Parts: sequence; structure tokens; C-alpha cells
Amino acid sequence: MNVTARWKTRLILVLILVLIAAGIKVLGKRYLRTGENSVASYFFDNFAMGTVLTVKVRTDDKSLAEKGAELASAELHRIHKIFDPNDTESEISSLNRSRGSESAISVSPDMARLLGEALRIRNISRGNFEPTLGELIRLWGFSNNSHRPEIPDPLRIAVLADSLGGAGGIELIDGASSVRIAAQTGALDVGGIAKGYGVDRVVDVLAGIGIKNALVNLGGEIGVLGVGSNGRSWRIGVQHPRKQNCHLGVIDQVEGMFIATSGDYERFFLEKGRRYHHILDPATGYPAGRGTVSVTVIASSCLVADALATAAFVMGPEQGIRLLESLGVHGLVVYAQDGDTESGRLAYNATRGFLQIMKPELEGLPIN
Ligand code: ADP
Ligand code: MG
Repeated sequence: MNVTARWKTRLILVLILVLIAAGIKVLGKRYLRTGENSVASYFFDNFAMGTVLTVKVRTDDKSLAEKGAELASAELHRIHKIFDPNDTESEISSLNRSRGSESAISVSPDMARLLGEALRIRNISRGNFEPTLGELIRLWGFSNNSHRPEIPDPLRIAVLADSLGGAGGIELIDGASSVRIAAQTGALDVGGIAKGYGVDRVVDVLAGIGIKNALVNLGGEIGVLGVGSNGRSWRIGVQHPRKQNCHLGVIDQVEGMFIATSGDYERFFLEKGRRYHHILDPATGYPAGRGTVSVTVIASSCLVADALATAAFVMGPEQGIRLLESLGVHGLVVYAQDGDTESGRLAYNATRGFLQIMKPELEGLPIN
């Protein structure tokens, strides 16, 4: 590299650092937009549970909005501490260490609630939602943001996939206030449901201090209280799975709804033109491969929407929609028609109820 090229590289590096610093500053900042009819909307961005939390509050009371944003962020950090599998001090890590112990371990109310729901959804999805694939997720390198992009040893994948859901499993005792986990059970990983639970908790916290109108968005998992500006419904754009600045459609009339999306574009790597992503098929131990690209579910809690989006993703466009339809929740599965998720044509299946709420545009609607 000659001297000018070296200076150019340095300049670019400095520029990138300045841009990152500016980005962090904007993200942490709280700002106010005066709304119509003298009711203000307050926007708060924050990092929480490994992603971006956006809380929008519509109220006359600025200090109430600020209190809501603070409590929301604190609540999510509290939940993250319980369910973070990468933190050896977290409750989920100590539960994982208790595998094979004779005595039951008493758990927090949050853990009891989440595990109860995770096991219920494992049953209704016939094991396609599997909260014990922690070792597999780790093996693939999807357990944190700095995943190592390579396909693991197939034998190791097969051994771990075979052991899932086996030998005794997880026993919830005394109304789930304590838990016993068999030695052979895979490590708990609740990444497919915890963000949804977090949104439910935040919505509860906001409602609990008297906030009537708010929109909570935790990395695409959404909860809605009341209405937005001018008293009209909040509007939720559904991310296009292959076009970054496009929506598949916009949902309005969302008062009291919870919406979750699972996509193969969140964490993935490409190898020889194939995409390897973070939603695993428990039957094979490989990234779910029924052609699904993204799933959006609307349900009466975000926890349920989140877990069912993951389950339907694995099950694919036919079985997945059948499951959602049978449970009476609304959902959309976008998939590649010929199974080629990189260059194949996209198509969708949706529940009847979903199509009454939103008609997907596979060409994409630009976000203005
Ligand atoms: P997103 O992160 O896009 O919202 P999900 O809600 O589907 O997507 O969460 C993906 C996470 O769920 C993975 O990182 C992993 O922790 C966990 N997971 C992956 N496959 C499954 C599965 N079949 N059942 C339950 N959890 C899963
Ligand atoms: Mg999920």
C-alpha cells in the first residue's frame, strides 16, 4: 500500500468512527415532536435485549412519557438479565447447569411464565418450536451477534438434533414455581419467545402508570396501546424480507394488537449461494429449509405471536398457516416458490383473517 492509499484508508476509518459515534448519540437521544390537536408524541430509542427498543407515547404529559420510557428500558434490561444464555450469572444459565439434578430448582415468576408458555407452544406446534436447542444454536454460532460463518460438523449437528426433546425433558412443579430438568435435555434457549415476552411486559408497565396510547417496537416485535396522532390508529409496516427499505404492507386498526415477525434475514450467512440462518428445524438441526423467508403473526400477546412466528417459520407455508388458522390467530408466511430462497420468486400464504387486515405486496412498498 502506498502512502496516499494508507492515508485514504485512515481517513475512511476516522469517518466511519465519527458516523458510528453520531449514530449512537442519536439512538440514545430522546426527542419530542409536537403532535396535532396539542397532544404530543414522544419518541424514545434505546438498546435493549440485544436490539433496538423504540417507544412512542402519545400524551399531554411529558414527564409521564419520560417515566414510561425509563421504566420500559429498565424492565427490558431486567428481563434480559434473566434470559440471557450468554451470561453465566443469568437464571437461565443456572437452570441449564441444574440439568440432571434430583431436586427441583425454584424459579422466578418470569421464568415460570415463560417456560410454561414455551412448553405449551412446543406441544401445539408438535415440537417445531423447541426451547431446548441452545447447544445447536451455539454450535452454529448464532448465539450472539458475532457469529462465525461456517457450517458445523454434520455429525455433531445430527447428535445434538437427535437428543432434542428426549428423555424426561422439563418438568414444571407446583404451578411452575419450580423446575426439574433431565440430564439428557438440550440447553434452554428462549430466543424465539423472550423478545415477545419483553414487549408484553413493557406494554403492561406503560399501562400500569396510566399511559393510554403507546407503540412499543423491540426489533420488529410490536405491541400497541390505544391510538396514535390525531386519534387515528397507529400504523405498522411489515418489513419486506428481501428489500431493505420496503414494506410488504401496512397494518392499521391495530389497537390492542401484538405483532411479531421472524425472518431469515436477521442473522445469517451465505455459503455456495445457500443461506444459513438462525431459525433451526429441530428435526434436522439445520436452518429451517421449507422455503420460508419470513413469517408475521398477529395475536393477543406478543409472547404468543413471537413463538408462533418461529414455529410457523419452521413448519413452512402450508403446515404453518394450518397451525395458525387452527389456533384462530392471524398470520402471513412468505416463501420462495421453488424453495430457492436466494433467487427464487416469492409467494405467500396467509390466514383468512390476515388478508382482511393487510394485502401483501411482494413487489414491496417503498418506505417514505
Ligand atoms: P427473530 O430473531 O428474527 O425475531 P425468532 O423470533 O424466530 O426470530 O427468534 C430466533 C431465535 O429463536 C434464535 O436465535 C434461537 O434463539 C431461537 N430458535 C431458533 N430456532 C428455534 C426453534 N425451532 N424453536 C424455538 N426457538 C428457536
Ligand atoms: Mg420468535
